[in-house]
Amino acid sequence: MKIVVNEIFQSIQGEGPGTGKPSVFIRLGGCNLTCRWCDSKFAWHTKYQDNHVMSVETVIDRIKSYPCNHLVITGGEPLLQQKEIEVILKKLPNHTAELETNGSITCDIKKHLTQINCSPKLSGSGNKPYPLRIKPTNKKVIFKFVVSKKSDLNEIDQYVRKYKIPKSKAYLMPEGVEKSGIEKRSKWLVELCKKEGYNFTTRLHILLYGNQRKK
Ligand code: SF4
Repeated sequence: MKIVVNEIFQSIQGEGPGTGKPSVFIRLGGCNLTCRWCDSKFAWHTKYQDNHVMSVETVIDRIKSYPCNHLVITGGEPLLQQKEIEVILKKLPNHTAELETNGSITCDIKKHLTQINCSPKLSGSGNKPYPLRIKPTNKKVIFKFVVSKKSDLNEIDQYVRKYKIPKSKAYLMPEGVEKSGIEKRSKWLVELCKKEGYNFTTRLHILLYGNQRKK
């Protein structure tokens, strides 16, 4: 079985409740959305020739070569290749795995995952609205919202009400691929999170390494 992979590397999880956790990142190629501020365009945009078709056995061998048993499966949109992910995870019973998704595709491999990080893309992303396919009642799911400007909070409030997402499961994250942008937005976003009861998450990998890949 083959899978389209963009990159595999070890780093620390930079976002959400697992921030700081050493992890092997498997970035899969291809996405069904086209977010204006996407920081992973190299995983799906046709102007990049950055993806590799690999056998699942090769991916498993690469994963096993790292001294780390936690995986972060990201993209692109990894659920486009969930059958292939399932085959890989079944062969790695001693690994834990979290998966990042934009929430537009039903996840049929929940039982193999320890956490699902769902990041719905709102109007600022430039995508048309789409129905949320990840159930907020699932205990493994947390939600991450990218925030560019203060007024994004209105749309996030409407969204969490519409889908009955508990604020305790919602993380607000400053948009930005440069340290300066993250720091600037973090100052007011932290205060909004304190006031409104959302969780704040930074983008630790950007603060540590800047916008470098495979760090
Ligand atoms: S869903 Fe994620 S990978 Fe796809 S375009 Fe949006 S930010 Fe990029």
